[in-house]
Amino acid sequence: MTKRTEEIIAASKCPCPKCQDKEAKIDGNLLLGLLVLESKIGRTTTITSGGRCPEYNKSIGGYISSPHIPDEFGVTRALDIQAYGIKPKQPKELKG
Ligand SMILES: [Zn+2]
Repeated sequence: MTKRTEEIIAASKCPCPKCQDKEAKIDGNLLLGLLVLESKIGRTTTITSGGRCPEYNKSIGGYISSPHIPDEFGVTRALDIQAYGIKPKQPKELKG
């Protein structure tokens, strides 16, 4: 398994101790979008946050209806990422 695959699998799960045995999924279009973004910026990214249970999401100050919380199908639809040399606000400017 590649480091990237392990990173994606880890990001699909909430990191809190009570969620470690739960099954988790990440939206495929989200991962495709991540690859497109990486191609556009010419850098790989590091996933800093993915799936979160409602309790964990609340504990870190996430929005109450955050797409990090799996939907009714158990799918997480948000990832937080970092890319070396890209400031936090810059990804918004890369749209289009
Ligand atoms: Zn959790």
